[in-house]
Amino acid sequence: MASFLCDQCLTAFVEDSLPRRGSVCFKCHLKGIRIGFTQGKEEFKGPTIGERQRKTVADAAAKGIVAEPVGQRWV
Ligand SMILES: [Zn+2]
Repeated sequence: MASFLCDQCLTAFVEDSLPRRGSVCFKCHLKGIRIGFTQGKEEFKGPTIGERQRKTVADAAAKGIVAEPVGQRWV
């Protein structure tokens, strides 16, 4: 167990090791997932296989990259 400081809300939180999502507490992590899910639903109209694959890649990129800027912009 180790404690980390959340990049987004600056709250200390405890994990076994640094989370793969980065130094972000579970609360901020959930916030990021919910935003990604909303965007995913918008894109879900017209679900051809190509669209789905592009969405999967975009989602992965979004989870890694979007989480931080979104949180900071909305605070
Ligand atoms: Zn946080």
